[in-house]
Amino acid sequence: MSIIETRDLRKAYRLGAVEARALNGVSISVERGEMVSIVGPSGSGKSTLMNIIGCLDAPTSGSYLLEGEETSGWGDGRLAGARNRKIGFVFQTYNLLPRLTALGNVELALLYGDRRNARERSLRALDAVGLSHRSRHRPGELSGGEQQRVAIARALVKSPTIVLADEPTGALDSRSSAEIMAILQRLNREEGLTVALVTHEREIAEHTRRIISVRDGLIVGDERVRSPRTARTAEAEG
Ligand code: ADP
Repeated sequence: MSIIETRDLRKAYRLGAVEARALNGVSISVERGEMVSIVGPSGSGKSTLMNIIGCLDAPTSGSYLLEGEETSGWGDGRLAGARNRKIGFVFQTYNLLPRLTALGNVELALLYGDRRNARERSLRALDAVGLSHRSRHRPGELSGGEQQRVAIARALVKSPTIVLADEPTGALDSRSSAEIMAILQRLNREEGLTVALVTHEREIAEHTRRIISVRDGLIVGDERVRSPRTARTAEAEG
């Protein structure tokens, strides 16, 4: 059973009399434990696709099965519930709250879910991204790469089924980008976490085993990468 399966997914936005068609029939499936990137030029529909996969938005037509469950027809409440339990989000701009510590930001993700052992689980999530020693720091006292690691810990703390990352390295220098990719690769390899990331950088996409290309709201490529880049290689290349 695929963890993500879409069939003929379409999404149109109405802007007054004009209709913008963001997705024009996207059918993909992603297996549990895969790490995939979604690439394509700006405006090709990547974010729209990620938003639907992340239960942030519903398609105009077509079907989306999340862990085998048909989601089309779900209302906002049900989408929010699935999103909260199953999806961890990582954004380009980290989206951390500046007044909370790293630990506070991670714990906040547990506000609406299972709050048992929240402190301990949050510390464990920070440890998983190598940041336990920064748990008391606020975002402003951390580098961009460290902030993104806090954001990954925040995504992980709920033990999601899938981590969705929208341009997770978009605001980072190449060294921090390599670190973030190394962490995502390790979580995928060692914890079996399913990871889907959007990127416009070919080099970042080559860190995943599969690259799905989107253009004009359609899948135009789906390639297997025989030997994905590792962060070590990226660092050695400077
Ligand atoms: P990408 O992430 O690849 O840049 P998007 O999914 O953001 O692409 O956008 C795909 C198309 O849908 C674009 O033409 C964009 O202008 C349009 N679009 C996206 N979101 C909206 C929205 N909320 N309202 C109207 N049009 C939108």
